[in-house]
Amino acid sequence: MKVKELYDKVVNGIIISDIELQRNIVYDADKQAMVIDSLYKGIPLPAFYLWQREDGKLEVLDGKQRIEAIKKFKQGNLLYEGKSWKAYAYESDLQQVVDNTELTMIVCSGDEKKKREIFKRINTLGVALSKFEVLNGLYHGEYIEGLNYYFANDANVRKVLPNATVDRGDNKYHLLEYIYYVRNNSVFPKRGELDDYVQQHKDESFNDDVKKIKPYISFIRDVFGDASKIGNVLKFKLAVKYIKDRAIWLQHKDAICKDCNAFIKSEGYKLSPSREDDIEAMIVGIVGNLRVDSKRLFTSDDKAQLLSTQKKNEQGLYKCARCHQHFEADELTIDHIKPWSKGGRTVLSNAQLLCRACNSEKGNKE
Ligand SMILES: [Zn+2]
Repeated sequence: MKVKELYDKVVNGIIISDIELQRNIVYDADKQAMVIDSLYKGIPLPAFYLWQREDGKLEVLDGKQRIEAIKKFKQGNLLYEGKSWKAYAYESDLQQVVDNTELTMIVCSGDEKKKREIFKRINTLGVALSKFEVLNGLYHGEYIEGLNYYFANDANVRKVLPNATVDRGDNKYHLLEYIYYVRNNSVFPKRGELDDYVQQHKDESFNDDVKKIKPYISFIRDVFGDASKIGNVLKFKLAVKYIKDRAIWLQHKDAICKDCNAFIKSEGYKLSPSREDDIEAMIVGIVGNLRVDSKRLFTSDDKAQLLSTQKKNEQGLYKCARCHQHFEADELTIDHIKPWSKGGRTVLSNAQLLCRACNSEKGNKE
């Protein structure tokens, strides 16, 4: 199909590009101009996927943004190299070339289920849409609309799971995962399960799930505030597990934030095979008034200082203080000689370099 024919059919409502399956993302002006540039320079555009309806009209399954760009340009709402469509009438062969460019149209037909399946495949195999955009396209309905509304209007969710500037809906997808987690006894969805969940609830209100998720979102915002460096998944797991202790967590929120951030910056954290458990244990300690001084942790600076005093072998490797084998600097951890739990201080004179194996074997022993 030539560009001119496509445009006429869109304007006359024979090709319908604004269908429910299509995403809301809009190309920016540069990307739109690139569509025109491709047409003018003979660079092929990807195929357009259309759906043949029983009434003879065609719905656009893939290609909406390219069609929008063509429409805008021809209607004078987009400039290409600083000039409008009309201006090109007298200046070059651009109008001719663009109008006569052949586009590849793939027309599909079948039942509604097949249409959704094709949409899903185009977007999975073509890597065009984010996971949320696929859900939004496939199962758009009251449920997703409620989710979008909640995201746009609830102050807590906007803080805890902010929308990115270019919103591909990643955090909305995470929120759905958390909802699933709460509803399914603390199990995250496996592949396909979230799709099924959203499909099931497609035409239902989102309000029930707002009620389910709200207490955890506000727990996360109140306890961790804006400063905590703990990842959202862990925050969420902790919220679900400890929401009954909300009051006492709130009392200790400053200490939680401070100690966890110090721990996340420490050497021990980088090499720990059980970071999430370590953080959880640390917080449980804090709220149980077993608060550990954040000075228990050596910093990267401490490690760098200690390394600078060590002798390297010919290969430039450092010796583990326990097994005496040699390792790269980043394979070694900085560790208390006398354990912190037994009164050992966090000072370089009480510090040694251990390989990972020795460190985990040593534990709290001297
Ligand atoms: Zn060792």
